[in-house]
Amino acid sequence: MLELEQIRGDFPILNTQVHGQPLVYLDNGATMQVPVQVLRAVEEQYAHWQANIHRGIHYLSEQSTVRVEEARKHLARFLNAAAPEEILFTSGTTEGINLVARSFGEAFLHPGDTVVTTEMEHHSNLIPWQEACRRTGAALEIVHLTDRGELDTEEFRRLMALRPKLVAVTCVSNVLGTVNPVEELIAQAHQAGAAVLLDAAQAMRHRVMDVQALDCDFLCFSGHKIMGPTGTGVLYGKRKWLEQMPPVRFGGGMVDEVTARSATWGELPFKFEAGTQNIAGIIGLAAAVSYLEKLGIPEISAREDALLCRGEEGLRAIPGVEVLGSPARRAGAVSFNLKGFHYYDTARLLDQLGIAVRSGHHCAQPLLARLGLTGAVRVTPAFYNTEEEMDALLRGVERVASLAGGLRT
Ligand code: PMP
Repeated sequence: MLELEQIRGDFPILNTQVHGQPLVYLDNGATMQVPVQVLRAVEEQYAHWQANIHRGIHYLSEQSTVRVEEARKHLARFLNAAAPEEILFTSGTTEGINLVARSFGEAFLHPGDTVVTTEMEHHSNLIPWQEACRRTGAALEIVHLTDRGELDTEEFRRLMALRPKLVAVTCVSNVLGTVNPVEELIAQAHQAGAAVLLDAAQAMRHRVMDVQALDCDFLCFSGHKIMGPTGTGVLYGKRKWLEQMPPVRFGGGMVDEVTARSATWGELPFKFEAGTQNIAGIIGLAAAVSYLEKLGIPEISAREDALLCRGEEGLRAIPGVEVLGSPARRAGAVSFNLKGFHYYDTARLLDQLGIAVRSGHHCAQPLLARLGLTGAVRVTPAFYNTEEEMDALLRGVERVASLAGGLRT
């Protein structure tokens, strides 16, 4: 059991008032709040250890280098990667996927090849593949959604007959919360000879990610969705791929030898980490992982599931609310529209009550188009939210619904 009062004490922002109302922060799918432990780790790095890494031989530089490489080892343990060299620090999920799409594309995609992704993806796991296919002449195939908002696994199976080079799929939908059967998808993709990239942006609080047990080839996530600093993230890649893939960003720190006309690349992981890294951010990300580990992902996940369930049931009971999708397994997010109200207005009116939710297309326009929508209101609780906060949301939605006739449709 999580000690809620103690946990909330780690997040002073949760006691903020907005528009004269206590903040009810239910936009954790967009970004999470940051506990004091992470703030302190970032501050300590800047206050006591600030120096560039891997370049200096002075004390602070050596200390900072050790701290960043310790963070890499920590992240490797956290994901159960075979070696720290398989952990690349990025600015977030988007950068990680772009890196793979460009580099894997350059190394392995040719005209006649196929990449498979899905209709459920965040734009960050769709557009990089559109672009990679455009550049290389490979074909992009899309797995569609069922009416419940799950992947059409029959279609997935059929597409594997094309023997794709790569399958890029999200673990959890950022709009519907649908939990995809990634173990099954990875097994089928591997049988067809495809590498698999997992977009784990929405999944890191939902389950323990063991990249060796999963046997995924790449996995990306963002620090800020697990309480880390913005502008941090991790790309895990199997060494066998990373070794064969070319760097896509060039500059300091990633080279072996440089002449005026040519260069050779450094070892993993530095080959992919050109330029000065987000050093304090990486330290903060490792502190966020420590915080997750201290609370326990199974405990966090159970608490978030219970809050989400309460939210979904409550929303379904409000006349005029249409909840998007009905997947068998939902984690992290539930989205809805209120009849007679534009989703922006619903969210704006909730904001007036101090309730922070997201509205719009959630960077998943193909998914919304499949549902015949242009947007929705999304509720994404985290373990530090209370039942009372979820009830405040439900009362808020009821209050919006009671505004006679709606605003506009
Ligand atoms: N994929 C998914 C499933 C997401 O939810 C998000 C963030 N909304 C991203 C990718 C992109 O993450 P970031 O903006 O941190 O790069």
